Amino acid sequence: MSSKQVHGRCHCGQIEISATVDTDKVMACHCSDCQTFSGAPYRAVAMVPAAGIRIQGEPREYVKVADSGNKRFQAFCPNCGTQLYAADAEKTIYNVRTGFLDAHGDLHPVKHIFGQSAVSWVHDLSETPWHETGPNSVLCDPKTGQPK
Ligand SMILES: [Zn+2]
Ligand SMILES: [Zn+2]
Repeated sequence: MSSKQVHGRCHCGQIEISATVDTDKVMACHCSDCQTFSGAPYRAVAMVPAAGIRIQGEPREYVKVADSGNKRFQAFCPNCGTQLYAADAEKTIYNVRTGFLDAHGDLHPVKHIFGQSAVSWVHDLSETPWHETGPNSVLCDPKTGQPK
């Protein structure tokens, strides 16, 4: 295991989270729940045991009930809606959303899960044109973000 100390805050700043992340357990999840909750094609998550997370502020927790009856917390900022983590009913493991973490660019997923529901175009992302900022800006290299 290689661990990394990370910190992040929601968009409005009401919630802050510090965590010790196992960088070998960062995953991109393509399940349909991740797609619905995020409004995005997939979410990247880092698994953190309860002892390794510190939460400041009070996230709102939506309880998702699976077909199996299992309950799962889906936490977000009650003010700005930034998605923060998912946790099992006993809160032993937190799946922290990496997008709001300062170091999210360093948290490279080591595997993709729920490929059965992934959007097919996710594989072609680097083949379509990448712009430095908005749709009328200059083209850039998808790996570096630098103008071509
Ligand atoms: Zn917020
Ligand atoms: Zn998912």
